[in-house]
Amino acid sequence: MKLGRGLSKIKCGLLLSDSRLMRLVFGLCFVSLCVSGTWAAPKQLRFNQQGQFKILQVADMHYADGKTTPCEDVLPSQMASCSDLNTTAFVLRLIKAEKPHLIVFTGDNIFGSDATDAGKSLDAAFAAAVNSGIRWAAVLGNHDMESTLSREGVMKHIAGMKNTLAQLNPSDAPGIDGFGNYNLEVGGVQGSILQNKSVLNLYMLDSGDYSTDPSIKGYGWIKKSQQKWFRRTSRALKGEYHREPAPQKHAAPGLAYFHIPLPEYSSFGASNFTGVKRDPISSASINSGFFDTMVRAGDVKGVFTGHDHLNDFCGKLGNVNLCYAGGFGYHAYGLTGWSRRARVVQATLGKMRNGGWGGVESIRTWKRLDDSRLSTIDVQSLWTKRRAASKF
Ligand SMILES: [Zn+2]
Repeated sequence: MKLGRGLSKIKCGLLLSDSRLMRLVFGLCFVSLCVSGTWAAPKQLRFNQQGQFKILQVADMHYADGKTTPCEDVLPSQMASCSDLNTTAFVLRLIKAEKPHLIVFTGDNIFGSDATDAGKSLDAAFAAAVNSGIRWAAVLGNHDMESTLSREGVMKHIAGMKNTLAQLNPSDAPGIDGFGNYNLEVGGVQGSILQNKSVLNLYMLDSGDYSTDPSIKGYGWIKKSQQKWFRRTSRALKGEYHREPAPQKHAAPGLAYFHIPLPEYSSFGASNFTGVKRDPISSASINSGFFDTMVRAGDVKGVFTGHDHLNDFCGKLGNVNLCYAGGFGYHAYGLTGWSRRARVVQATLGKMRNGGWGGVESIRTWKRLDDSRLSTIDVQSLWTKRRAASKF
């Protein structure tokens, strides 16, 4: 792949000595903080004056103890100088290059069994996002709770961090399964007719870790209580979008982020997806029906997971795109010579007949590789609104 060709000139930190890597990380931190000086963290997520909202998805950082934690599946020549700090350097490069409006971490943020202190590991793993001043969110994977904090403790710690929009759980769903179920609303452009409406809805869910039912083996799944909360939230958001002022005919599009892929990710053949499928689809061994629940709700256009580090594809099943981000972290299994990567999603608003910004008109995605050029690959359209709907 691209990593192979320019190894001697690579500047992503992977081949740099420890001291040079430290300088790069601090240098990028400084650049990032300078850049962030112009992006005051907004009180509320909203589309910018250019009618765009961009989300950076970081899957499977597998962060442990930082500089002393070695990398996995990198070239032998890279091993000596490679650590968790390479993961941090990659986050910083992406922030500088993409300038996202939101960063979403989709679980296995830390690799608990190798993290000496879960709190310190979480602080280090999210430091680049925290210091950037950009709003960020996170959900849990199946490895986050294997250190010194419980699953609830990890999510509480994350929800208490600076600049995060992560929540332990919704206040209107007592007894909901899991930790880290919440939704985020993205408002229309300031000054536009939709400034006080959520024109893009983000659903964050805890897909669990492992089955707790002895008769069912394997990974966890999104439970009925979570689906009930999702249905209710989706319905309420649609109701608000349809109401005065500026009532909208269709639902605002939604995107769902969680860790473990749904069984429906196995629906794609050899050619009807974009990207790479090198891992088996490691979903739960039962189907809890969340895909069908989303189809019935009708608003979710894309699902974004991690978990299978060597899968980075997007495939469309019905009207829902099922996407992986691909493995990100250097202390995570990967494939030697295959660049670590991240997914970007950008939603763009349409114009009303009066020239003002309206609702979301299109959603696109691409991936970025941690190679010398931070290559952009697999640019694709996920969703486009039918034009008939703009009334204003
Ligand atoms: Zn993982």
